[in-house]
Amino acid sequence: MSQDTFCVVFHAQIPFDRIPHQFKSGPMFLQALEDGLKKADADPSVKAVMICGENGKFSAGADIRGFSSPKTLGVALGPIVSLIESSEKPVVAAIEGVALGGGLEVALGCHYRVAHAKARMGLPEVTIGLLPGAEGTQRLPRLIGVPAALDMITTGKHIPATEALKLGLVDEIVEENTIEAAIRLANKVIGQPLGPRRLSLKPVPKLPNMEAFLQEAQVKVKRQARGFLAPELCFQAVQAATQRPFAEGVRRERELFQVLLSSGQAQALQYAFFAERAVHRWATPGGINLLFIIFDSILLLSLGLGTMGQGIVTSLVKANIPVVALEQNLEYLNKGRKAVMVLLEREAKKMEGGAQKLDFHNPARLQFTVDFNLLHDVDLVIEAVFENMALKKEIFHKLSNICKPGALLCTNTSALDIDEIASATSRPQQVIGTHFFSPAHVMRLLEIIYGRHTSPSAIATAMQLAKDMKKVGVVVGNCFGFVGNRMMFPYVEQAVFLLEEGSRPEAVDQVLEDFGFKIGPFRMSDLAGLDVGWRSRKGQGLTGPSLPAGSSARQRRGQRYSPLPDLLCERGRFGQKTGKGWYQYERAGGRTATPDPWIHGFLSQYRDTHRIETRYIDQEEILERCLFSLINEGFAILAEGIASGPEHLDVIYLNGYGWPKHRGGPMFYASTVGLPRVLAKLQKYSEAHPDVPKLRPSAFLKKLVAVGNAPLKEWMSYLSRQSPKL
Ligand code: NAD
Repeated sequence: MSQDTFCVVFHAQIPFDRIPHQFKSGPMFLQALEDGLKKADADPSVKAVMICGENGKFSAGADIRGFSSPKTLGVALGPIVSLIESSEKPVVAAIEGVALGGGLEVALGCHYRVAHAKARMGLPEVTIGLLPGAEGTQRLPRLIGVPAALDMITTGKHIPATEALKLGLVDEIVEENTIEAAIRLANKVIGQPLGPRRLSLKPVPKLPNMEAFLQEAQVKVKRQARGFLAPELCFQAVQAATQRPFAEGVRRERELFQVLLSSGQAQALQYAFFAERAVHRWATPGGINLLFIIFDSILLLSLGLGTMGQGIVTSLVKANIPVVALEQNLEYLNKGRKAVMVLLEREAKKMEGGAQKLDFHNPARLQFTVDFNLLHDVDLVIEAVFENMALKKEIFHKLSNICKPGALLCTNTSALDIDEIASATSRPQQVIGTHFFSPAHVMRLLEIIYGRHTSPSAIATAMQLAKDMKKVGVVVGNCFGFVGNRMMFPYVEQAVFLLEEGSRPEAVDQVLEDFGFKIGPFRMSDLAGLDVGWRSRKGQGLTGPSLPAGSSARQRRGQRYSPLPDLLCERGRFGQKTGKGWYQYERAGGRTATPDPWIHGFLSQYRDTHRIETRYIDQEEILERCLFSLINEGFAILAEGIASGPEHLDVIYLNGYGWPKHRGGPMFYASTVGLPRVLAKLQKYSEAHPDVPKLRPSAFLKKLVAVGNAPLKEWMSYLSRQSPKL
């Protein structure tokens, strides 16, 4: 290193370090950085400063744990970034590994940036509900222009060094030693004027149509954010850079940062982040961590190539797991094969240019068959045939006779009893539920359901499978609908009751989409297929030929029941697949939902037939009846020991049901609303609808309110019986 160049070294994660001291907290790092810079400035023998990271990483930004504290690093880091920029000696950033968040903001304060070709850069604060609060929203647009800066700041995406070079974010990229290259550059620029290199002094590059561009960008950000504040406030901060001088823009950035901090959304995202990590650490009561059991080679059979089978096969091929896909006859097989090939071609296109190639034309990796004899060799079966207990039992009996002794038998049932399915086999310890979500090649959740006899190694294998498929596996107990669908039933039930009472599918969907759901319950039902639930209700004797003669149309087993979804199915309205459901679509298989006047007419006729008085239902009632009934079921699930904690329920909802991340999951949301309020509202709606048991507040919820609105992390300590796990 040149004697003229002073070096400040970061630790890869905050806390940052300055050689030779180890600092363990953010404020100490900031002090060290400030001291280092001041020392370098004061020392006449130092002619330039180079800032680099330790162990090949520039900086991954602030520790997410720090974001719940109001004295967040971003705000404190801003003045230091300004200090770097105002240095009278050239400061060069040597970016290796990653420069993210506060790390990139420090690099933006430097006068020059040199990056390694493999480095990645980004301002990911938006993904944790914040904005870059160390003047990054003001410097980045000045450096790379408004469109590129907006894209990076409002999405939080990471960009490779090659793209950073094209955008002008870095001055140079190198294949070899970045630090040496940065020092070389520092020596070269000693004595050159620094004014043009100080981003705070540069104007934001003009666009011929800035106003129109910003307007359009804002609409897009708002539409995608659905109540998530961070992207919109990130937009406003960048907009301020286009309208105000630097110092005023920084003030605006700080104000907006405070708004985000106090909104509670950052805390919800932080909670979601740690909840996901918590569900991975699932262990037996004896403390044995099951996740280390690894299967080297696995031949997997997917049984049934319908909607779910197609997505499951696609995910398995993507995970590089050899798979055999089996169907009941050639007609279904060919249909399924065609659909899988379309999905895989699409996935292969997306992966073009990447390191991994999809090897799906090789029969050793993917085979389609109707020959059950191929079952002899498979290590793991995922059954995804129709949701019918008799059929599933017949299939599992067959599997038990044909598959090799160690093979794991998984069922993708949405709700059926795992123990009953396992009873059809001679190896119930190897039977487990692996509940994928539609579309299975996209959705991250895998609900893993253990039965009474399921072995720990079967659970471990299913968890490992989830990991290999890059899914989030959540282990839960066996009950009708497991966790996700069981909580969903009362939510959908309320949505349909609201239609009976006077609402419309699009009105209910709108309220829930405004809350932040990607799709409302009726759009979701159309996507999943109304026939799946219909078949299940027929199996339960709630509708169809097994319904006792003389049953009341709107009552089952002494409770309120709505036959509306059954009536739609009887008319062949299965949703997107038939082009008609709660909405109409451009064609069978179409995806664009349009409100259907036929449905509106049908609903008013239905109300007339059943003498239901149509009433206006406001948004608050729609939201509360749907969400609080779902949450109420969550409390019942926790009380029964079906899930290990509220985090498990939240991770399921965040990854499988489109629950908005910025609201942290249903149980977290309940804790933010306040349990006394949730209880009071449930009591009110339950009094108005005494024939709806799912509105009756759960005993566990009442207990938590009685002990004084216990905080979420203490809820489980109020249960005398905890999750039995195994
Ligand atoms: P689907 O009707 O689209 O497909 C079922 C497939 O199974 C059909 O292609 C059928 O030919 C095949 N099949 C039936 N009997 C068979 C046999 N004896 N041997 C081989 N193949 C046979 O149904 P789907 O929506 O894919 O649902 C499948 C399972 O997944 C059900 O248990 C369902 O509850 C569950 N599930 C569905 C969803 C969803 O959103 N659709 C989500 C999660 C779980």
